[in-house]
Amino acid sequence: MSKVAELLLIYTGGTIGMVEDAESGALHPLNFDQLEKEIPELKKLECNITVKSLKVPIDSSNMSIIIWRELLELIEENYSEFDGFVIMHGSDTMAYTASAISFLLENVNKPIIFTGSQLPIGKIRTDGKENLITAIEIAAARENGRPIVPEVALYFEYSLYRANRTTKVSAENFEAFQSPNYPLLAEAGVHIKYNRYAIRKWEDARLIARKNIIDNVASIKVFPGLRRDVFQAIANLPSLKGLILETFGSGNVPSDSWFAEEITGLNERGVIVLNVTQCTTGSVIQGKYETGVHLEQAGVISGRDMTFEAAITKLMYLLSCDELTAMEKINYVNVNIRGEIS
Ligand code: ASP
Repeated sequence: MSKVAELLLIYTGGTIGMVEDAESGALHPLNFDQLEKEIPELKKLECNITVKSLKVPIDSSNMSIIIWRELLELIEENYSEFDGFVIMHGSDTMAYTASAISFLLENVNKPIIFTGSQLPIGKIRTDGKENLITAIEIAAARENGRPIVPEVALYFEYSLYRANRTTKVSAENFEAFQSPNYPLLAEAGVHIKYNRYAIRKWEDARLIARKNIIDNVASIKVFPGLRRDVFQAIANLPSLKGLILETFGSGNVPSDSWFAEEITGLNERGVIVLNVTQCTTGSVIQGKYETGVHLEQAGVISGRDMTFEAAITKLMYLLSCDELTAMEKINYVNVNIRGEIS
């Protein structure tokens, strides 16, 4: 490692890097050669920053597994050369991408910090400058020659979160993200206070990037009045390999017999069915109520306190692990592999 941290800043798109067209007022992506001009403070930071961009920067609502692959390649190709990574991403799907990258990259031991903003960097009241500058400081922070945050994380509005614990909670407030079931990794005030007990420990390991992402997954959000034919329209998809049931409270669904029959059918076809609660905080405890008992009996796996974003991307990751048997994939689903489960 050089004395000064070498950071790679990857621009994927999103509000943070957009400027307003003077005439129409519409937002369009900033030319990143202008980055230092827009944020002169970057020159004062004690690190060297290299900037790369996706081939075509996007509004993050257009995020796809193809672009996740492009991002994985960018990180993998540059991993050994840099001490840390900052990824500028639209806030809408940032929790999904950050969760996905936390699973699809195995053995991460350098900071990979996602950030974005609610207002473009060119706006006077932008939250983007603070978010970007602090994300860079965190990615560059080291102690005894090792990174302080050797994991995939998300920084937004004075808070650093574990990536696969985050969810976007506000379309309006600067405090747009939460990590409902896991403490903050750090808080930025006058100083950046790191919660060391919550941060993953550094390990010497070789990075592996899983780029053959399997996306034969779906989700069904349960609601009073959910019809069997609606359920079947998704459950009967021949290509389906993993299904998330978004359930009530501690993992409950209607006790109608058709529900159990459909789940048993899925199980017999080898589809992994994962139970994630619709509640923001707390955990699935299958069988706590009678309305959850038949799920357990039909082979549904408890997603415990995983966010929806972590659950769906973890399923994609596990399904792409060709070396695992069907049973091993099922067993890993509700085992904590990247700090995504308490
Ligand atoms: N639609 C934008 C995006 O996610 C919103 C944002 O960046 O905050 O790309």
